[in-house]
Amino acid sequence: MEVDRENISKVILMGAPGSGKSTFCDDVMRTARRPWVRICQDTIGNGKSGTKSQCLKSAAEALKDGKSVFIDRCNLDREQRAEFVKLGVHQVDVHAVVLDLPARLCISRSVKRTGHEGNLQGGKAAAVVNRMLQKKELPKLTEGFSRITFCQNEIDVQGAVSTYSALDPLDTLPSGCFGQKKQDAKIQLGIMKFLKKVEVPDTVGSNGNSFQDSVSKHETKEKNFSFKGPENVTLLVGNAGNKVTEGRDFPKGSSAGALSLCDVPTLAFPSISTADFQFNHEKASNVIVEKVEEFLSNAGNIRLVLVDLTHGSKILSLVRAKAAQKNIDSNKFFTFVGDITQLYTKGGLRCNVIANAANWRLKPGGGGVNAAIFSAAGPSLEIATKEQAGSLSPGNAVVVPLPSTSPLYKSEGVTHVIHVLGPNMNPQRPNCLENDYSKGCKVLREAYSSLFEGFASIMKTQTTVLEANCQKSGSRSSELHKDLFGKSPTNHFPNSDQKIKRDSSYETKGNKKCKGLPDELGSDIADAMVKKTHPKNEKIDCGTSKAWGSWAQALYHIAMHPEEHKNDVIEIADDVVVLNDLYPKAQNHLLVLARMEGIDHLADVRREHLELLRTMHAVGLKKAEKFLSDDKSLIFRLGYHSAPSMRQLHLHVISQDFNSKHLKNKKHWNSFNTDFFRDSVDVMEEVDKYGKAILNNDDSLLSMELRCHRCRSAHPNIPRLKSHISNCRAPFPATLLQNCRLLLAA
Ligand code: AMP
Repeated sequence: MEVDRENISKVILMGAPGSGKSTFCDDVMRTARRPWVRICQDTIGNGKSGTKSQCLKSAAEALKDGKSVFIDRCNLDREQRAEFVKLGVHQVDVHAVVLDLPARLCISRSVKRTGHEGNLQGGKAAAVVNRMLQKKELPKLTEGFSRITFCQNEIDVQGAVSTYSALDPLDTLPSGCFGQKKQDAKIQLGIMKFLKKVEVPDTVGSNGNSFQDSVSKHETKEKNFSFKGPENVTLLVGNAGNKVTEGRDFPKGSSAGALSLCDVPTLAFPSISTADFQFNHEKASNVIVEKVEEFLSNAGNIRLVLVDLTHGSKILSLVRAKAAQKNIDSNKFFTFVGDITQLYTKGGLRCNVIANAANWRLKPGGGGVNAAIFSAAGPSLEIATKEQAGSLSPGNAVVVPLPSTSPLYKSEGVTHVIHVLGPNMNPQRPNCLENDYSKGCKVLREAYSSLFEGFASIMKTQTTVLEANCQKSGSRSSELHKDLFGKSPTNHFPNSDQKIKRDSSYETKGNKKCKGLPDELGSDIADAMVKKTHPKNEKIDCGTSKAWGSWAQALYHIAMHPEEHKNDVIEIADDVVVLNDLYPKAQNHLLVLARMEGIDHLADVRREHLELLRTMHAVGLKKAEKFLSDDKSLIFRLGYHSAPSMRQLHLHVISQDFNSKHLKNKKHWNSFNTDFFRDSVDVMEEVDKYGKAILNNDDSLLSMELRCHRCRSAHPNIPRLKSHISNCRAPFPATLLQNCRLLLAA
């Protein structure tokens, strides 16, 4: 609905020093479409630190002046922000943006900065941030906010930046809370890990009660984001952040901005035929809304985004209005103003599939979207397109997987382009329908049907991976039980009635291997181990659905009788045993074995084992930290194989160099670098939440193409992959950088 008055927002930022509040404001204001004023206590006194009342006064003046304001101070407790909430004229939207980033990150940024005017840096900063965070009170709508956006990682922050920079003076944002996720133990581990390494002077905190104020005075601009966002795009992870609700027609109170929580497969598409092909906009918008509605009625957890480059685009406003009339879920379909080739890097909106309004020859050139997509994707798109089709007739679409070398793939995370050809009403272009709109609408409908079917086909083939990623993000658990197209999920949770696919096939192959013990167990040591463990080499039924071959019992035996393996084990405790992996797949590769009977593998783990999982994690963490203190260049991951080859629950603590002669084949690589590998932090969270861990034990994961775990480039064989990873310094994918999945030196 159009509104006839300009809206003013009062956005109260909240976050510890180092959380990036000032950067947030700068980023929004750089491209903002409405006038904003930033009220910052650090600079309020003629460029120097000032007082809270100065901030209140300036904010009130700006609001009176019709400007929207950002209150850029810590505001971590209710009392600190109360006066700012109350402040100002009526009819101001009062919002909170909570930069609730991991303490470790805020501390690390604050500690690293130098020349801070309030001297909030070094070990002192660590202590201050830590103490402030202990007093943190997350805001509630009842405090007087109409909208609260929680950002817990940089992707969320980017989403919020996009949301606010896209607001024009007439826009309002939906009310409600957006983006809130459960705080979990991982963050605490992060703090502990960091504080151990940071010198905390005794003197800090002597100013006791006035901590909040004194610290907020010391806030400064943070420019040292370490997050590399776009380059880290993980395939099929569509974590859009709070999407830009371009449409001012989003119904108030809708959850239009809530998608930051989930990684939703997303198709971005331009309006087909309405630009160069001069199709009537009213009629085209009817077709779009009709087709979107039809498609969404059968689809599950996916999103469609209609994109246009220009603000005030007629087709976007028509579609928004009609979609709103039809009550189409604005979480699943919305409009977006931006360049379809830069939706993520410029707009913070992740789309794994984009549509191209193509020409019949499927060639680059022309103008508009077609030229932009071919040019952004580079020559590899033309080659890949040729492999799929030589030409296209109106009403049809062709799906083209984007080569991983394409810049569009690397920087935007786009995995597929779908070329679509719509009906043409432009006499200057081929196949003009000469205003025959009954045929035109029919062809346009066909074009959108083909486009959406193409998207559905991509999603169907990738359902398993998508679900795994979505589950990994730990969000919207109820939706995780549906697959993308409304079917029951497969392979999510261990189920005693359900045959675990990889278990059986892997077992067979494992046993084959075991006969000659060619690979991992090909040594005399392994032979000896097998004999020692089970002299008769018989198969053991462990009481679960899986039967373990004798060769697979070595770890179990070590866990139960560590004293008999004194030369092999590194540490023996009541609950766990630590040992070097006999066939390490990286420079540093340890196993932490559970000593409890009856938990052969992750599938056996239940809520009552949570403490044990935590112990295993803590022990693994300690070991990794020891390695890290010796070699700061190392990076570690801790996790479990969804379907392990060896009996007895064991946690892999593995450095990410994968520099080992024992890493020989696709299975080895993929078992550590696909969703088959379950990060320990996620496993603990799932067991806590659902009572069991999610298992991604589909065989196809182990036979996936070989992709670099950092830049995601594909490689034809292990030697080539190894040579690539020895040099690749690309940032890790965003999903790995989140939630302490990767362990780095502080
Ligand atoms: P998984 O596939 O998770 O069961 O991994 C089992 C791990 O155990 C592999 O990384 C093997 O290299 C390792 N391994 C196999 N036998 C032994 C052994 N006797 N001692 C230590 N590690 C072993």
